[in-house]
Amino acid sequence: MAVRTGKQFVDGLRDGREVWYGGRRIDDVTTFPPFAAAVRSMAMLYDLQHSIEHRDVLTVEAPELGGRIARAFEMPRTPVQLRLKRQAYSVWAEASCGMLGRSPDFMNVMLTALAAKQSFFTELAPERGEAVVAYQRHVARHDLFLTHALLDPQLDKGRLRHQQRDPGTPLRVVDRTRDGLIVHGIKRIATAAPYADEILVWPFPPTFQPGEDAYANVFAIPMATRGLKTICRPSFVPDRATVDHPLSARFDEMDATVVFDHVLVPWDRVFLHENIALLNRMYRDTRMRELTAHQTNARLEVKLGFLYAILVRLAEAMGVDKRPEIVELLGEAAVRVEVIRNTTRAAEEQAQVDADNGILYPDLYALQVGRALGPVYYPELLAMLKRLGGGGLVQLPVSMAEFDSPIAGDLERSLSGATISGRDKARLLKLVWDLVGTEFGARHELYEMNYAGERSALVAGIQREYGRRAYYVDYLDRFLQSY
Ligand SMILES: Cc1cc2nc3c(=O)[nH]c(=O)nc-3n(C[C@H](O)[C@H](O)[C@H](O)COP(=O)(O)OP(=O)(O)OC[C@H]3O[C@@H](n4cnc5c(N)ncnc54)[C@H](O)[C@@H]3O)c2cc1C
Repeated sequence: MAVRTGKQFVDGLRDGREVWYGGRRIDDVTTFPPFAAAVRSMAMLYDLQHSIEHRDVLTVEAPELGGRIARAFEMPRTPVQLRLKRQAYSVWAEASCGMLGRSPDFMNVMLTALAAKQSFFTELAPERGEAVVAYQRHVARHDLFLTHALLDPQLDKGRLRHQQRDPGTPLRVVDRTRDGLIVHGIKRIATAAPYADEILVWPFPPTFQPGEDAYANVFAIPMATRGLKTICRPSFVPDRATVDHPLSARFDEMDATVVFDHVLVPWDRVFLHENIALLNRMYRDTRMRELTAHQTNARLEVKLGFLYAILVRLAEAMGVDKRPEIVELLGEAAVRVEVIRNTTRAAEEQAQVDADNGILYPDLYALQVGRALGPVYYPELLAMLKRLGGGGLVQLPVSMAEFDSPIAGDLERSLSGATISGRDKARLLKLVWDLVGTEFGARHELYEMNYAGERSALVAGIQREYGRRAYYVDYLDRFLQSY
């Protein structure tokens, strides 16, 4: 098997997995309306890998794996490979206006980062290092789609895991057998879990304390594993047509809680277990952030660019695009797009080869700018959309079909703009409403604020790890001594 088509992806999901929605077990996740649109969108991404226009960017020849693989699985060793990886991320992000935060490339590159640091997992035992490399090759060869679940249930943040009222609620190892680990408990929030092929589990944040060893595990299993249950949030897919909800009708990724009921994880799928010292170093020492943030920032650039373009068209439609305060507003939006755009390029420019594995890593500090500012910029751009849209956002017809009804003339007159018909302005404003007013839009704001982890911890981490600190502080000290 090599690079999959959309159909192959969809066919692979009819595997008896246990997915629950609204208290009901779902037989076929591919046709169930709350998931069907997202499944179709993911399938569209897989099909793009075969398009003549994008094939050479989205996929790459990997003779050691017996054929072509998706670009995200490639371990970058040259600047060209790094740039092509970013271009591949952008092509997929553009296919969904940046709305699919957990497109397959995100997890594929995360897994690739782990496999690139085999030496880290070998510290526990050679078999663990071999397992993670073999698994990455398996996923690449079969072009699988992974979800991931890092967090424990929110419970009581004032207590350690083993001190919770029920220490069995967070996921932990409850037994070890000849065949593997037996794990039991709950993880969240696994976006795309109902229609992913497999799940990668590792705990976050990396702040484990003595006594929590049973909870410090990294492993991967198929979603159809016995004892693994997926419980979904309400769907944000609207009942009405795509033209009325151009984003939520297509790109609502499901978020889920995953429950493990005495699940067997075979040893060849165990990458790290019951070791808090290693677990606490994993996030940093596997350098997964460098490779994943390269993908997430490329996607965010597409999404912010999309919002910027909507702002431009909206300002034109309303005839305010030349007003100084609106030009300034658009300039503020453009600045935000450029900052995020340049995180990936600056990271590539300052990339360095790691002597441990020969991988060319994009610069962490440049990429962290995107992870720290995305949660600020995205809500800011939403606020700009609301400011520009004003009351027009609640003046929309129930359905675009009303433009073909007896009231079409009234709608045209009430909605037409400076450079735009009433029908086209309604289309534009409906797109804006999908971003700022719907449940889908609210979820996306929450996503951008949280996908890289809780922001204050992230930003404090930047200061703690800031490798250019000495350079700047030494410069200051030399200056202070110079007079
Ligand atoms: C839409 C969406 C999709 C997601 N998808 C995924 C996914 O696919 N896979 C995945 O694993 N995760 C996913 N996440 C989870 C995401 O990583 C977390 O939401 C994020 O890390 C924040 O963690 P939390 O939700 O536990 O919030 P918390 O950490 O509980 O934070 C909530 C509040 O509590 C405060 N707080 C928490 N701890 C402390 C403390 N010790 N001291 C003081 N204040 C504290 C915080 O400041 C914050 O204000 C997703 C989240 C969202 C919203």
